[in-house]
Amino acid sequence: MQEWEQDEPLIIERGRGSYLFDIQGRSYLDGTSSVWVNLHGHRHPALDRALKRQLGKIAHSTFLGLSNPPAIELARELIRIAPPGLARVFYSDNGSTAVEVALKMAVQYWQQRHPDAGPKRSFLHLKLAYHGDTIGAVSVGNIDLFHAPFKSLVFPTVEADPPYCYRCPLKLTHPSCQVACLEPIERLLKTRHRELAGLVIEPLVQAAAGMITHPPGYLKRIRELCTKYNVLLIADEVATGFGRTGKMFACQHEAVTPDLMAISKGMTGGYMPLAATLTTEEIYKAFLGTYEEFKTFFHGHSYTGNPLGCAVALENLRIFRRERTLLRLRPKSAALARWLEPVARLPHVGEIRHRGLMVGIELVRDRPTKEPYPITARIGHHVATEARRNGLLLRPLGNVIVLLPPLSTSLPELKRMVAITHSAIETVTGR
Ligand SMILES: *Cc1c(COP(=O)(O)O)cnc(C)c1O
Repeated sequence: MQEWEQDEPLIIERGRGSYLFDIQGRSYLDGTSSVWVNLHGHRHPALDRALKRQLGKIAHSTFLGLSNPPAIELARELIRIAPPGLARVFYSDNGSTAVEVALKMAVQYWQQRHPDAGPKRSFLHLKLAYHGDTIGAVSVGNIDLFHAPFKSLVFPTVEADPPYCYRCPLKLTHPSCQVACLEPIERLLKTRHRELAGLVIEPLVQAAAGMITHPPGYLKRIRELCTKYNVLLIADEVATGFGRTGKMFACQHEAVTPDLMAISKGMTGGYMPLAATLTTEEIYKAFLGTYEEFKTFFHGHSYTGNPLGCAVALENLRIFRRERTLLRLRPKSAALARWLEPVARLPHVGEIRHRGLMVGIELVRDRPTKEPYPITARIGHHVATEARRNGLLLRPLGNVIVLLPPLSTSLPELKRMVAITHSAIETVTGR
């Protein structure tokens, strides 16, 4: 904040397509999709229209005890596109809250449905996980920079090493390792399942950790282990959902149905704050009972099921169909991989991790030893500053440069984003 006050702040006034414009009229490519939310570009005419149309009816009425047409229709659509078996939708308004809802639902589910299964109140999650900034989400997260000051507030959890292959915790190499890092997870599930309500995971890509991409088959195996040991699988698709990884949801790459799935970021195409937690009929049923049984899931927010958000989210899904967004993503993802090849050869690029339109470029001081840049070098920040000078907005995660363009970004725009990123890395780290 101290530095931000001293620097010239960037004030964004408007946007169009993949571009943002500041109050001086300068344009920037939106290399982060406005931090991972925008899908079809800014000022998409259909999204603008959907929002205005809903505004002509009502902006908001409560969802507590009532409902509204856009929320009902959206729930139906979400179930249609979600992994099979997810049958119910619980609305909230941001990703952290969608995760909180999943955690609370999991704990209450076990109490009401299988009280004999054990005091299942805790959660297993991966190190370096990020599930949001509210206290429950922080409890199942593990990024010291964000979470250290709140250690005294969080509930205890069980942690396992992530499959961060570039810096393998077991010092092995994929694929010859045969994903040996799953063994400790199985051991934890085997010995502690009676205390575990769920296993929380960002499927396929641990985004905030620096776009750590999981090896193929990892998620599928996690699903099998959760089933075997009677632990709910909670997929946090807040970052990976809505086409980011190339399929509508990351779980669909491995034909996995989680027991609970949190979605938010891309849900409204980057227009309105909206989130949901999807779950199975089995879990839904555990919350049914007579009034005096008090099986209700006591969780609600003032803006739950907001009609404006739901209306624009519905249009977001229609655009996926109309513009064949997922199909058109394939050549973009392939081109991106090709254009990133020369970037990967830069002497201070340790590894490039890429899935769909999610890219993490990990910069290292010394490539052979993978020695990281020290925090004081602020290497990510300097690369982002240089890119901004050349008309591209990036937001790095420590030493990892993140490129996460809107799904609608054109090939020439993508090419320009990579070119600016390439030269910014070269300028800052040297050739
Ligand atoms: C961004 C994010 C969240 C938190 O979402 P907010 O809307 O910022 O609260 C949770 N999980 C993952 C994986 C995220 O990327």
